[in-house]
Formats: sequence, structure tokens, C-alpha cells
Amino acid sequence: MEILKEEKADPGNKSAPTPRILVAEDNMVNQKLITLLFQKLNLKVEIVSNGLEAVEAILDNHYDLILMDIQMPEMDGIEATGIIKEKLGDKCPTVVALTANAMNGDRERFLDAGMDHYLSKPIDIRDLKRVVEEYTFYDPC
Ligand code: MN
Repeated sequence: MEILKEEKADPGNKSAPTPRILVAEDNMVNQKLITLLFQKLNLKVEIVSNGLEAVEAILDNHYDLILMDIQMPEMDGIEATGIIKEKLGDKCPTVVALTANAMNGDRERFLDAGMDHYLSKPIDIRDLKRVVEEYTFYDPC
């Protein structure tokens, strides 16, 4: 099956739908860095700056993946995740926590809040790529 082979070798796997991604992060420098990292994977992201805006955006739109900073003003990432998990249940998109300094026990705290995974800041592009591969149908080249 030559055609299948070619399709697999196609960078970016154009047959797969491009995932819609939301990043909730209050720090402007981090917002820019994360946007650049996703650009390297040929992906665009939408950005909000606190948990309240994140909840609003997620309840109003369909996203395939959420990157959620833990420490944010107005509402933190843990509370925001709890709300969307409760409201959306099984339809809630994958939530990946962003954390500056993961301590012992943080992993459990994030998982208890309903988060599916976490990434430590500064984010390594290889970790980000792995998250996209694991939680979306998109194949970053
Ligand atoms: Mn923050």
C-alpha cells in the first residue's frame, strides 16, 4: 500500500485535523515562549490570562487540548480545571498543568484536580511534542 506509506511520511500529517489548543497562562513572557514552541510544531494556540477566562473560553468553544498554568490571578489552574471537569464530564478536553516548580506530592494534587498530565516550566519542546502526540490526533513532524 504505497499511498498509505506516503501519507505517513508526510510531515505534519495533513490528513489529521489540526487540534484546537487553549493556553491559560498569566505571564506574558511565558505566553510568547509557549506560542513559539507550538509554532515550531506548526500549531497555533489561543491564549487566556487567568482561570476565569479559561473556564469561559472552554465552556464556549470546543478545544482538543488545554495547557493550564497552576498559579494565575483571579482563579488558579486547579480551581478552573475542577469547574470544567465538573461541567463537561467525559467531554472535557485533556488538561495539561503547567508548573514552575513541581514539588513532591504536586503530581497527585494535579491528578486529583482532574488534570491529565503536567509539564514543568521552562517547557522542553520534546516534552511538548510528546504531549501533542499522546493527546491529539495531530502528528507533529
Ligand atoms: Mn502563573
